[in-house]
Amino acid sequence: MADSSFPGRSLVLASGNPGKLGELMEMLKPLGWSVQPQSDWTLEEAVEDGHSFIENAIIKARHAARHSNRPALGDDSGLVVDALNGRPGIYSSRYAGPQADDRANISKLLRALEAVPETKRSAHFYCAMALVRHADDPSPLLATGMWRGRILEAPAGTGGFGYDPVFWVPAEACSSAELPADVKNRLSHRGQALKAMIEQMKKEFGP
Ligand code: IMP
Repeated sequence: MADSSFPGRSLVLASGNPGKLGELMEMLKPLGWSVQPQSDWTLEEAVEDGHSFIENAIIKARHAARHSNRPALGDDSGLVVDALNGRPGIYSSRYAGPQADDRANISKLLRALEAVPETKRSAHFYCAMALVRHADDPSPLLATGMWRGRILEAPAGTGGFGYDPVFWVPAEACSSAELPADVKNRLSHRGQALKAMIEQMKKEFGP
């Protein structure tokens, strides 16, 4: 049921990441939505103490809605490696420690998989998104995306961020750091989740 009462079709993004903000703005603009970063209201980060991506996405969205007093979209993503029982999972950005950078996280991952043969190096990126109409919304809109691949034995490529250089994408026969940005955005866990979220938003608030 379309709801045209959604105030001004404006959303707060529960992240200060300029890349994510730009990507979201680009996809939502044709639908008449505007997106503002949470940092316009607060620099305080949400306490991400959920046990899953979806729980953390909801926590982030509620935090942004509480501070801005507006509808908010939260997202959480990471790498899930089968041979490591799902690690680094929700701890992907801080796998090698609280201040870890991408290089340190990748080194730790490759060390953890040293003895694991190619056939057992399956993994996926996962992204969860939650849209809350207000901070206490009991029925957030939810969307997820999953991108399957496997972990390489050494980094390849210079594009992207995070674990991209060690994530092999079978359908494209290259690492995700070797993909053009538009191709990655179309295939990726985040691209899939965003597309699914937009479909839900159209149903809920009108095209
Ligand atoms: P967050 O969703 O911004 O919290 O991202 C969590 C972490 O997961 C990032 O810091 C990266 O380490 C990893 N990650 C999430 N998405 C990607 C991706 O598309 N490529 C590579 N790493 C990713």
